[in-house]
This record gives sequence, structure tokens and C-alpha cells, in this order.
Amino acid sequence: MGKRIVVVGASLAGVRAARSLRRAGYLDELMLVGAETHFPPYDRPPLSKEVLSGNWTPQRGRLDASGLEDAVLRLGERAEALDAAGGTVTVGGTPVAFDGLVVATGAAVRTLPLPPEIASRALVLRTLEDSLALAGRLRPGQRVAVVGAGFLGCEIAAAAVHAAVRVHLIDRLGLPMVAALGETVAAYVAGLHRRHGVDLHLGVSITGITPGPGAHGVRIGLDDGAVVEADTLVVAVGATPETAWLAGSGLLIEDGVVCDRNCVALGADRVVAAGDVARWEHPLLRTRVRVEHWTNAAMQADVAARNLLAVLTGGEPTAYDALPYFWSHQYGVKIQFVGTASGTFVVQDGAPGEDRFVGLFRDPSGSVVGGVCVNRPDRLAGLTAAIKESLA
Ligand SMILES: Cc1cc2nc3c(=O)[nH]c(=O)nc-3n(C[C@H](O)[C@H](O)[C@H](O)COP(=O)(O)OP(=O)(O)OC[C@H]3O[C@@H](n4cnc5c(N)ncnc54)[C@H](O)[C@@H]3O)c2cc1C
Repeated sequence: MGKRIVVVGASLAGVRAARSLRRAGYLDELMLVGAETHFPPYDRPPLSKEVLSGNWTPQRGRLDASGLEDAVLRLGERAEALDAAGGTVTVGGTPVAFDGLVVATGAAVRTLPLPPEIASRALVLRTLEDSLALAGRLRPGQRVAVVGAGFLGCEIAAAAVHAAVRVHLIDRLGLPMVAALGETVAAYVAGLHRRHGVDLHLGVSITGITPGPGAHGVRIGLDDGAVVEADTLVVAVGATPETAWLAGSGLLIEDGVVCDRNCVALGADRVVAAGDVARWEHPLLRTRVRVEHWTNAAMQADVAARNLLAVLTGGEPTAYDALPYFWSHQYGVKIQFVGTASGTFVVQDGAPGEDRFVGLFRDPSGSVVGGVCVNRPDRLAGLTAAIKESLA
């Protein structure tokens, strides 16, 4: 009897893991279980950029699923439960036995506790369908309120401005993207949005939301006394790892599937996890991290898949030590961030006022722990190498 490896989650991390298994020479049964029906799956970054601003058709931006022609696809189906010790995953009410399993279920959009009459008016952005629904509302002269000024809220604001929509960007923190970028770069991002006419409501809490004019309109009360009126409400307050189906599985779940440095799940040696759902012991950062960004999902899936094969064949697994990295596009500005935004920040080259600069974060010992490149993609590789060297 041949082996069976099941990959749960058929988006970026799942498809990358499946392709890596085939490329590494795994020839037995490969089953992909995915709650979404698109295949090849669509890519998410264009959903808040090119697709949202109408520059790309939904057909563009598909992921590469070549090499998976002989995989068993169970699309439009959810894995309902896992028995890690027994080696079964339940799909469609039936346990499926596996020799190895990849958990790649990503993250689900978070929302706010809203009364039903407001919840039915609020849009979110995680899927292609969400992006098309929101794009349909971005009409010149309309007003949109975006609650949450993280990277997604900021990209939605930029796409809305591009569509000549009046934008209110609301956050309880004092600056946009401040958790990811630190204060200096976040202040630059705030200036970028102001320059493009976005009304920023920062450092404020929402006191109440009531229905406003029109089919989808809302009135948002803020604790500084302002009332924001909008034709569309978008809630962009982050995502939570998709782990509910793993309750009672034997895996350790703590804000994600907890894994060792090789991406092997604690509590089950033939289960690996990758992408937004995985929290692993980072060998260089010396702590457990979970990263909700594209490059991590792609790279971690490759390593996790190869490590699963190593576990199954008695080989030597490799620690996954890629630094957290993300990029964002807003108003034609490309922001790239690597490492962590902690310690002291200095601009090393260029100037925020020129929309072109490179900056470094140093910890108290002087080691470089993070870096940002704004419209300087040429500096990213050097920065990444410098951070890795100082952390090693
Ligand atoms: C709008 C948007 C824009 C983004 N832009 C950027 C960007 O510019 N730069 C950047 O670095 N990152 C960006 N990201 C983040 C990046 O897209 C994610 O980190 C990446 O998609 C994670 O891939 P994943 O496969 O781990 O998870 P996901 O993409 O969430 O895929 C998980 C899949 O698993 C499925 N699933 C969940 N539960 C089950 C189950 N029980 N059974 C079966 N299937 C299940 C889900 O339906 C989904 O299809 C963006 C994300 C979004 C939403």
C-alpha cells in the first residue's frame, strides 16, 4: 500500500507545500482539502490592490498549481476534525487515514461585535468575493469608512482614493500600521494618506454605529465627539488563525498551531504546519512567532513539506529561519519591511519627505533587528543579510 499525505487548506501555503512534496520526489497519494472552490487558487495580495482598484480582472493573479494534476482535490470541503495520534482527518463526516498531514488553513477575517442591522452593512476583505463586493461599492463621490488602519485598512484606503471615493480611516491607535512599522515610519504613512486626502481619525474609540442614509449607509460615533457618515463601512481589524477544527486533535493550539523550529507540530510528529496558521520556534528570534504575510506562507510551506518527508523517511529536518517580511503598496509607494520594529529607529539613507528612504531598527546592544525600504527595493537583500548576521 502506498502512503497518503493530506494537505488541509488549498491556498498559498497548501499549494506550495503540495508542489514541494512532488518536487522532492513524493510519488504516492496527495490529497488537498480546501474550503474554497477556486483552483488554481487566487492570490490574496492583489485583492486589496489591483483587483480592488479594478486594474486586474479576477482571473489574473492565480497561483501556480502545476505538478498537482494527479492530486486528489477535495474542494469546497472543510476538514472538520483531526485525530493526530490515530492519523485521521475527518472530511465530509468520514475519517481519512493519513501518513503525513500539512495544516495550511490560514486565518479567518476578524470582525467587530456589531448589532445585526450594522453587521449586515459591514464589509470585510479576505477573499476574492469580498474584494469584488467592495470594488462594486467604490464609485466616485461615495464615502467609505474603514475601521482599522493596519496594512490592509491602509491599502483599502489607497484603492478607494484611486477610485475617487472620500475615505475616513479610523483606528484606536495613534498612527496607521504602527505595530508593524514603529512610530517614525507610521508617521510617514499617516502623512502619505493625509496628502491623498484621507480623513484620519486616529487614537479614537467607536462609541456607537447606527444605520445611515441609503441601503448600506452608517453613522459612526467617535469618542472625540466626531460623527463619521459613510455610504460603506469596511471592517479591517485583522484575522485569527483557523484552528477551531483542531480542537481535541492532540496538537498544541496557542494563537495558531504551535510547532518546533522545523515546523513540526508539537504533540504530533507526522503533522507540520505552514503559513498564517503556524506559530513556530524561530531559531534566530529565539521566540515563537506567527507571521501573516505572503512570503512566509510560501517559504515556510516549502520547508515544512520537505521536513514532513524527512520525518516520514528518517531523514534530517531543517530549521526554518526566514525573517518576518512583508510588502505593501499604497499610492504607488512600495513599503518593504523585514525583521522586527523594536528598539531605536534611524533613517540610514534618503528621506521620508522624498518618499524614498531606508531605515534601521537597532536593539540596545546596537544589533540591527529590523529594516524598512520605502521605494528602495534594491536595498532589501543587503538589509536582510545584515539582520540575519547580527541575530546569528
Ligand atoms: C487582501 C489581502 C492582501 C494581502 N496583501 C499582502 C501583501 O501585500 N503583502 C504580504 O506580504 N502579504 C499580504 N497578504 C497576506 C497573505 O496573502 C497571506 O499571508 C497568505 O495568503 C497566507 O496564506 P495561507 O495559505 O497560509 O492562508 P490563506 O491564504 O488564508 O489560505 C488558507 C486556506 O485554507 C482554507 N481553509 C480554512 N479552514 C479550512 C478547513 N478546516 N478545511 C479546509 N480548508 C480550510 C481557507 O478557506 C483558505 O482557502 C494579504 C492578505 C489579504 C487577505
